[in-house]
Amino acid sequence: MKIIVVGSSHGGFEAVQESLLDYPDATIQWYEKGDFLSFLSCGMQLYLEGQVKDVNSVRYATPEGMRAKGVHVFTQQAITQINPGQHTVDVHDLKQDTKRQESYDKLILSVGAVPFELPVPGHDLANVDSMRGRDWAIELKAKTVDPMIQNVVVIGSGYIGIEAAEVFAKAGKKVTIIDVLPRLLSLYLDQEFTDQLTTEMQQHNIYAATGQGVKAYQGVNGRVTKVVTDQAEYPADLVIEAAGIRPNTGWLKDVLDLDQSGRIQINEYLQTSQPDIFAVGDATIVKYAPTETTMPIALATNARRQGRFAAKNLINANQPVPAVSGSSALSVFDYHFASTGIKEGTADKLGVKTQSVFVEDLYRPHFVPEADNAPVYFKLTFDPTNRRVLGAQIMSKANVTANINAISLAIQGQMTIDDLAYADFFFQPGFDRPWNIMNVAAQKAQRELA
Ligand code: FAD
Repeated sequence: MKIIVVGSSHGGFEAVQESLLDYPDATIQWYEKGDFLSFLSCGMQLYLEGQVKDVNSVRYATPEGMRAKGVHVFTQQAITQINPGQHTVDVHDLKQDTKRQESYDKLILSVGAVPFELPVPGHDLANVDSMRGRDWAIELKAKTVDPMIQNVVVIGSGYIGIEAAEVFAKAGKKVTIIDVLPRLLSLYLDQEFTDQLTTEMQQHNIYAATGQGVKAYQGVNGRVTKVVTDQAEYPADLVIEAAGIRPNTGWLKDVLDLDQSGRIQINEYLQTSQPDIFAVGDATIVKYAPTETTMPIALATNARRQGRFAAKNLINANQPVPAVSGSSALSVFDYHFASTGIKEGTADKLGVKTQSVFVEDLYRPHFVPEADNAPVYFKLTFDPTNRRVLGAQIMSKANVTANINAISLAIQGQMTIDDLAYADFFFQPGFDRPWNIMNVAAQKAQRELA
């Protein structure tokens, strides 16, 4: 069997790994159009802030390492066309500028996405940048120490925008984050959390300009100098666009069924509309456990899980990929937060009736001195009719984010607040309180529903 995997980031890497395990006799070809195999944008902030020194180390696989495992690795080679009838792909060797065809028995696409570029006047000015991939990592790194750059404007306050803002604030720049939504991080956290984070960021020279839309970038001598919104103007020596992504699928529209946003339509076995062609990662959609509907959630975790299941299902498509809840975590200066599933702020858009409880506690018992203790904020969201757990958010200066993984499991297992209220969670004064905050919140939810 000959397996072709396209794309060398999270999804492609896992598809290759699982194929090696499940089909040791298969010929595996792995294609990447860029000149670097398996760069992981998740590690970009660590590199930009100097915790990771070598940009080339931000990866899980090297061509040499994968070749040693028997994988045929091709970089700077783009798949430009799929011919499903003939089971072939057209390959463009970008370095030699030559073209050839390769046959496949099974094809796995993890072609990912590129940053969405705002279609506003001035978008082609110099210093209007993005934050994704190795080339941008190198470019942005140079700009963290460029004395000509003092005012940085980040467009978009999702995780990537917040990471970019923190990088440049720590580099001593004044940062403004513009978002059309009314709060920073509003798709990830409710207001109880984002109010505190907005204050925390302001104390570190990051200013929120929310509830406004970008109208234009203006510049002098071809370089950006200003961002104009529908409400104000902001000086900008550097703009970082982090306002969503566009799937890398324009070239596939005549071959595969795509949805309205251009994402590849797949079923729970990662099969596309064409036989023997599978797709995973940011170019696709996932099944969302709280609502059991599908939606795009661009996370490495999802791409990796899908990559594994695409390979598992290559011959016998009988292993559905588990639904996910968009579990994610981030640090913003001294705070660590995580969330999963539905928030109060996203429930309406999803058409789901929810109820929530908010709990503030200490992470360790009261007798532990303040210097070694910290407040914890936790919000649990549930369905008031069937009592099912639908989501949760947590934040503290202590790192208690892993609790959210337990809530993710509760959502996946369709558990209720009653399952959670007295669930067996450990107590050790070094780590937590006699009642874990998840117990406390679920017990409060029970009282409110009684
Ligand atoms: P991509 O990462 O988009 O990679 C696709 C690859 O395919 C690219 O290398 C591309 O060059 C190649 N390719 C595309 N078309 C072709 C073709 N025709 N021929 C050959 N090659 C092709 N997620 C998390 O879960 N946790 C995090 O902490 C996190 N942090 C992030 C931080 C940043 C700054 C960014 C940008 C993203 C972060 N993500 C995080 C999201 C995560 O990086 C993505 O969800 C993940 O990279 C998606 O993987 P993918 O395989 O779908 O595609």
